[in-house]
Amino acid sequence: MRYQTFKSTCSYCGVGCGVVVKKDHKGRLQLEGDKDHPVNRGMLCSKGRNLHYVVQDKSDRLLFPEMRGARQHPRQRVSWDAALTRAAAVFQSMIRKYGPDSVGFYVSGQCLTEEYYLVNKLAKGFLGTNNIDTNSRLCMSSAVAAYTKTLGEDAVPISYEDIELADCFLIAGANPAWCHPILFRRLEKHKEENPNVKIVVVDPRKTQTCSIADLHLQILPGTDVVLYNAIARRLLETGQVDVDFIAKHTEGLKNYRMLLAGTSLKKAAKICGIEVNDIKLAAQYIGNAEGFISMWAMGLNQSVIGTDKNFALLNLSLLTGQIGKPGSGPFSLTGQPNAMGGREVGGMASLLAAHRIQSNPEHRREVADFWGVDTLPDKPGLTATKMFEALESGKMKAVWIICTNPLTSLPNSRRIEKALEKARFVIVQDISRRSDTAAYADLLLPAAGWLEKDGTMTNSDRRISYLSKVVDPPGEALPDAEILWRFAQKMGFRGFDYQDASEVYDEHCRLTKNTNIDISGLSHKRLQEEGTFQWPVPFDNHPGTPRLFVDKQFYTISGKAQFNTPVYTENRSEPTDKQHPLVLMTGRIRDQWHTMTRTGKVNRLNSHIPEPYLEINYFDAMERDLKNGDLAVVRNGRGQVRVKVKISTDIKSGVVFLPMHWGKILNRDFARANNLTQGLIDPVSKQPDFKYSAVQVERY
Ligand code: SF4
Repeated sequence: MRYQTFKSTCSYCGVGCGVVVKKDHKGRLQLEGDKDHPVNRGMLCSKGRNLHYVVQDKSDRLLFPEMRGARQHPRQRVSWDAALTRAAAVFQSMIRKYGPDSVGFYVSGQCLTEEYYLVNKLAKGFLGTNNIDTNSRLCMSSAVAAYTKTLGEDAVPISYEDIELADCFLIAGANPAWCHPILFRRLEKHKEENPNVKIVVVDPRKTQTCSIADLHLQILPGTDVVLYNAIARRLLETGQVDVDFIAKHTEGLKNYRMLLAGTSLKKAAKICGIEVNDIKLAAQYIGNAEGFISMWAMGLNQSVIGTDKNFALLNLSLLTGQIGKPGSGPFSLTGQPNAMGGREVGGMASLLAAHRIQSNPEHRREVADFWGVDTLPDKPGLTATKMFEALESGKMKAVWIICTNPLTSLPNSRRIEKALEKARFVIVQDISRRSDTAAYADLLLPAAGWLEKDGTMTNSDRRISYLSKVVDPPGEALPDAEILWRFAQKMGFRGFDYQDASEVYDEHCRLTKNTNIDISGLSHKRLQEEGTFQWPVPFDNHPGTPRLFVDKQFYTISGKAQFNTPVYTENRSEPTDKQHPLVLMTGRIRDQWHTMTRTGKVNRLNSHIPEPYLEINYFDAMERDLKNGDLAVVRNGRGQVRVKVKISTDIKSGVVFLPMHWGKILNRDFARANNLTQGLIDPVSKQPDFKYSAVQVERY
């Protein structure tokens, strides 16, 4: 049989595995891992292996624009022209009556870079608002804040190829065995082939990742800062630090040292709920390492002290001089496939293109000049949770939601429901009817999905890849970028007369010129012909940059990396009490992705864990007379969830876990974990805390 062959990148997690898609003469698809891809070398996890089924199943797809004249009316099919004319009329009217900050966009780390670029240009350059934020706020913003302050730039220093060069790993607040499976496979193989490699896992739950751990530090939720500070103190005590590196290439050790002196290892162990000797052993592994890599994900980032947790972990790399050399460095594991690409184009309320800062007047001027507009708005934009609070309070009137399902994924779902009910106008642009948020749309726009459009993404190790268009979108669905540029044209804005996504990409690349993330040497054509590149790629023949800071010149003003001093104070998240004595953490399971609008369609993925559950410690279950499989109600003042219990000794007593994926089932929200989560955010990164909500559990 003859096939056409295309290359793409998996559209789920931030590992960014390469895939090869074959299309036969009837349009049927086959898919396999790309053996030549430097990240996955042909491997794919269960989600990636089933991607083509999601593309071929059109049962839930949105096929044409739908609109309603008033909330009480049903939506009806309309033409694209009518849909975008209405969208433009509503946005113009809101902006005229209430000002540009009365509108906003909430987008996604699954958008392609070109889409992200356009929505930013549209909002910040032309509508005059910084109200454009993304579900990446829920994912990486604490890591971004800490990288920026520590290294002078939101820049992951290392590559996947460093994994095989390291001999010690600290995996903190992450379960890559389930959430970044191909990265984990590489780690597992490396450990198998090199048994002396040491792996330390820090997690209140004993997850699948612990199967390869030499040491599992099962800390109490929220105590990470104390642990990493204690490890640092021990490294200093034993002299296992890189004195030369610290002296030449860092600043801030004095204050950091004073901070560390304030907490003994004994006290730290007590706060964390672990043994002193385990802290010493972790420090010994790190201190003895030739190459030390820290890896982390949402356990650190999704916290009211997420930035401090990141600071504390990054300090370990500085203290040991384990950065800017092979097999070493901090490595944040991006949750979404293009969270990094989104940040490159300034896809958050606090950023501008090419990592420029929204609050910096010079940066605003550079971008305004490039876009040919007088000025960019100086007022900070609303971040994810704040945007929905503003809708609820009436400060914001209209929201345009692209490729994300906030009703299921944002914390405190009831509040999100109220916000969407209160909003004057809601546009939802998505591929699927399965998104619970779609029910609130006054205007529902059908978007093209993966393989139905082309563009680029950037994965966890700064690797930019080109995603081919393989099939046409169904019905009248359009690529997100085209929807945005057509809307801009309806608004009468100049500078949106693109013919295709490559023109958008070229413009974005030009705007990065002479920045730390310069990719002016890239184009769609080059990515198609030569494969993936890690930024920066500042000129045409540049090969890309696998490792940053090899010259030990950091992007700070002084050129030196900064020790920060993350102070631990008693829990700053929601306190537990007699009524709500348990700490709820939410997270992912192996075979589902976010709110299941795609993975939930694939039977073989649903068969892994077919229904939601509550993981609860054996003793907490006994106290409540709960047996495995019993139905329990988890509740607090915000809402409740009713699911079967899974009794486990793998979770600490006092802590319970719910998967975050399930939204409404048969129009009922009894399994939605975010009924219970709170809207507290980190004061620096504005990232919400999904890892510490006070709840009670009772037999149902
Ligand atoms: Fe896709 Fe992530 Fe699985 Fe790779 S590890 S196949 S990127 S979901």
